[in-house]
Amino acid sequence: MTSSTTDFAITRNESPKTEAERAEILANPGFGVHFTDHMATVEFTEEQGWHSPRVEPYGPLQLDPAACVLHYAQEIFEGMKAYRHADGSVWTFRPEKNAARMRRSAERLALPQVPEDVFLEAIKELVKIDEVWVPDASTGEASLYLRPFEIATEAFLGVRPAKEARYCVIASPAGPYFPSGVKPVDIWVSRNYHRAAFGGTGFAKCGGNYAGSMAAQVEAAEHGCAQVMFLDDREEKWVEELGGMNLFFAFSDGRIVTPPTGGTILEGVTRMSLVELARDAGHEVEERPISIDEVKAGIEDGSLTEVFACGTAAVITPVGSFKDGDDVWTVGGEGRSEELEESYPVTMKLRTTLTDLQYGRAEDTKGWLVRLV
Ligand SMILES: *Cc1c(COP(=O)(O)O)cnc(C)c1O
Repeated sequence: MTSSTTDFAITRNESPKTEAERAEILANPGFGVHFTDHMATVEFTEEQGWHSPRVEPYGPLQLDPAACVLHYAQEIFEGMKAYRHADGSVWTFRPEKNAARMRRSAERLALPQVPEDVFLEAIKELVKIDEVWVPDASTGEASLYLRPFEIATEAFLGVRPAKEARYCVIASPAGPYFPSGVKPVDIWVSRNYHRAAFGGTGFAKCGGNYAGSMAAQVEAAEHGCAQVMFLDDREEKWVEELGGMNLFFAFSDGRIVTPPTGGTILEGVTRMSLVELARDAGHEVEERPISIDEVKAGIEDGSLTEVFACGTAAVITPVGSFKDGDDVWTVGGEGRSEELEESYPVTMKLRTTLTDLQYGRAEDTKGWLVRLV
């Protein structure tokens, strides 16, 4: 091989979206519905290792119908964002954490691990060529959502880890996750379904975890809830997380509790960053098991004042209530203020601290930002 694994061959899209089409999409991008003009791909075979890095027009994949991913779900993914700062530069947040997590996910799913430089270079090349798709800073909370993923492509129906795989990155402009402003979300406590089991794939970011959570999501919607909270599968007592977001609990004495990531909980980059930012802000942060009973009791006696969920896509979302069967626990009580800065002061302050850092409105004293363009 003459070229290195990070030397991406570029094939420009000959019919990209017109400026007018792009402007219309960027004016109202939604989430995950529109995609940029290009995608990045790197192939893996046992003989060649990672090879054929390229950026090419966005479009359908060619896969053998017997490709392992379609039968045994050998698939993992990541979720990141590119943020435009006021000076026009484009940055991403702690990508080495995503690269490391993707390697851990790969290990669990017996997929080949994408090296960190390949992971990151694919993102850089894609964002560079599709830079015009990164929403402008003035919109406040818009970004280019990045979706790296890896699939097993080998055509083989026997059950063993695939020997061929593909790493791709696609990108999708994203408006603010809550177009009409941040609103507390109502949570359904899942009793019929668990997201993860001890020894299972809970810590891996794999499509299979999401496939298994959809029925619970449907059940939640039937009960008027937008999100599901999963409990541990052994005692059905300990709070784990939502289908795609980690949870934090803030007490009136300033303590903040989040469940520990012991194999069944996804190790969120937002989660680990907020633990650090909350400590910097003077909170005592406890990473320890918290039971659904402690949550209910805390809401009832007023000691648990705020609950929020976090993840890259929605950043931080206040939790308004928990519905467990026919019973409802309203965080902050029925009479809580509609003004989130009043009813969720800890949540909203952490949200501002994090987004100011990501959008370059505050100094990056931690070196968490990596420049893409
Ligand atoms: C991706 C994900 C999160 C959030 O992780 P971030 O790195 O903060 O985006 C939380 N829970 C699950 C199940 C996830 O898949």
